[in-house]
Amino acid sequence: EAEKEIGFFFPPEDTLAVIKPHTERKEEILEEIQARGFSISHLKDTILSREMAEEFYKEHRDKPFFSQLVDYMCRGPCTMMVLTKENAVEEWRAAMGPTDPSEARRTAPGSLRARFAKDMLENGVHGSSNMEHAHQKIQFIFGDIGTESVIIDGAASPPLET
Ligand code: GDP
Repeated sequence: EAEKEIGFFFPPEDTLAVIKPHTERKEEILEEIQARGFSISHLKDTILSREMAEEFYKEHRDKPFFSQLVDYMCRGPCTMMVLTKENAVEEWRAAMGPTDPSEARRTAPGSLRARFAKDMLENGVHGSSNMEHAHQKIQFIFGDIGTESVIIDGAASPPLET
């Protein structure tokens, strides 16, 4: 019986999630994250320097919207989080919904971007697109937090008011 149950156990996975600058109703987003079963293992508010924002989005450096994106990402504090859950990378992408909020409202009306995004650029939230990026970006933002870090409840770490 016990062996059977082991077959259904998947280890928790980490992803990097960001509430982007000037997103309104942050508290609701944090509640939503927890309601969807993610643990907020780490949380901090950070104002990215230009250099950090460029590094963070370096995969997009050749896109026409790159400089706009970098400007926006350092225009105010970002709430940086490590979210932990089984299959966290994919599930957080699904929770966010499509990049374009008008598409999100059409195809994923319950998603965070459908509900909290302002427009294509200021679309509320970010999430790593695969596990390799998740590890890289967590390391970049939080440093070497290791695998021994204690999981804290997100409610214990409210974002700083700005
Ligand atoms: P994501 O993985 O869903 O965040 O989307 P991408 O990785 O393709 O793009 C990164 C971020 O760049 C998005 O979340 C938007 O903030 C911004 N972005 C993407 N496409 C566009 C666009 O066509 N125009 C503008 N202005 N911003 C964009």
